[in-house]
Amino acid sequence: MNQSADVDLAIVGAGAAGITAARTALGLGATCVVLEARNRVGGRVHTDASLGPHFDAGAAYIHFCDRNPWVREARRLGIETRQWRGFMHFEPYINGVRVPEEAVLRRRRVREGFWTHLESIEDQDLDQPISDAALVLQDEGRDAITDMSRLGLGEDPQHVSLRDYMALWDGPDRIVPQGYGTLVMAAAAGLPIRLDCPVDRINQTSAGFDVVTAKGVIKARAVVLTVSVGVLKAGRIGLPSGLSADFCSGLDGLAMGALTKVALAFDGERFGIPQGADKIALDAPGGSMTFELWPFDQNLVLAVSGGQGGRRLIEQGEAASVEDVARLFSTIIGRDCRPHLRGGRLSGWWGDPYSEGSYAYAKPDRHHARAMLLDTGIEGLYYAGEATAGGRFGACMTVAGASYAGWDAVKKALKTLGHPLPRRVLR
Ligand SMILES: Cc1cc2nc3c(=O)[nH]c(=O)nc-3n(C[C@H](O)[C@H](O)[C@H](O)COP(=O)(O)OP(=O)(O)OC[C@H]3O[C@@H](n4cnc5c(N)ncnc54)[C@H](O)[C@@H]3O)c2cc1C
Repeated sequence: MNQSADVDLAIVGAGAAGITAARTALGLGATCVVLEARNRVGGRVHTDASLGPHFDAGAAYIHFCDRNPWVREARRLGIETRQWRGFMHFEPYINGVRVPEEAVLRRRRVREGFWTHLESIEDQDLDQPISDAALVLQDEGRDAITDMSRLGLGEDPQHVSLRDYMALWDGPDRIVPQGYGTLVMAAAAGLPIRLDCPVDRINQTSAGFDVVTAKGVIKARAVVLTVSVGVLKAGRIGLPSGLSADFCSGLDGLAMGALTKVALAFDGERFGIPQGADKIALDAPGGSMTFELWPFDQNLVLAVSGGQGGRRLIEQGEAASVEDVARLFSTIIGRDCRPHLRGGRLSGWWGDPYSEGSYAYAKPDRHHARAMLLDTGIEGLYYAGEATAGGRFGACMTVAGASYAGWDAVKKALKTLGHPLPRRVLR
């Protein structure tokens, strides 16, 4: 290591990308420190047990588990994962009345027809808003695609590039009964992580970088930055001058969605509804809201909304959004649930200064934006995280993608530093 540096790598952020980056760096014999603003690790993967029963406030599903490194990691750590049976089982309601089965089947057929329609769109036309591609559908079909965009991507379909969406890897999901956050936290055990240590700015020096934090300056030969696109766009970290035009344009081409969860904890009353009879209110204010009932047999209901609906909940604040969601749930179950409510929690990532949104999507006509983030234009400064895991990895927006990106950035950084790397890593 250069004598004037404290570490080879300063890694900013202890989410999935930062944790993987640190494990990779240490595994390859480099020195590193992870600087994390919050008082916990995991970033947008966090298992919240503050209500008693636990729930994942951020990521919950190990997507495309046939190739997701977190399945292997869970096995290594002895943490159970289970196959997930899919999202198709939500019982839809409008105005508190169950939507008839034939309408549900129609909705499903429309969604399947939409996929067939996408196959007929020429490659050069794919970078259009998802909503434009849905114009061929009847109203009911367009509503189904809007729900898919809001609840899957966290954003309304007119803002999202269809091409970016179609690049996402597909595959079976697994879930973690103890919580995905618990798994990611366990993977961080023993790493050199400084909590409560927000990075204020990164200055380039002749020897590398000075990373200025609330707790002093870290001197590093290279920096791997893993904060979200939203945090960077909000200017929360001062970056050295000389960022490439491509990098800046890449940031401009991406934006953060607002997938939002509200958890309701009950006293044990389950209103005669069995586990697995999950619901979706198609007429919730700001867009459809799903209700997952009694996850892992706990006395909890987890409501999810995205796009306009997610932002609306966050703007209301925790108390009002919990009340709103409880009222809507009561309409669906035909009974006031509130006398049995023991507490509620709003997980509002879009209003959180350390995430500034749920995950990054590419705007229409900007599907190249993710690739543009891969070269900051400053030697020794690397950007990683879920937003950059498109292209080579069709895994952006996910925990796995963040990990791939963290691994990739460290590999590049150590190569630039001339750190000896095994041949298998250089491939
Ligand atoms: C509601 C929701 C549901 C989701 N569902 C899924 C899912 O089911 N499956 C899935 O795979 N993915 C899901 N995701 C996406 C997934 O959580 C993210 O893609 C992934 O966790 C991002 O990891 P990251 O390391 O790139 O970023 P982050 O997790 O955001 O990590 C960045 C870290 O940087 C820290 N930081 C910010 N500012 C500073 C600063 N100034 N100084 C120091 N540190 C700072 C943050 O606190 C954070 O810990 C979901 C996300 C949300 C919000």
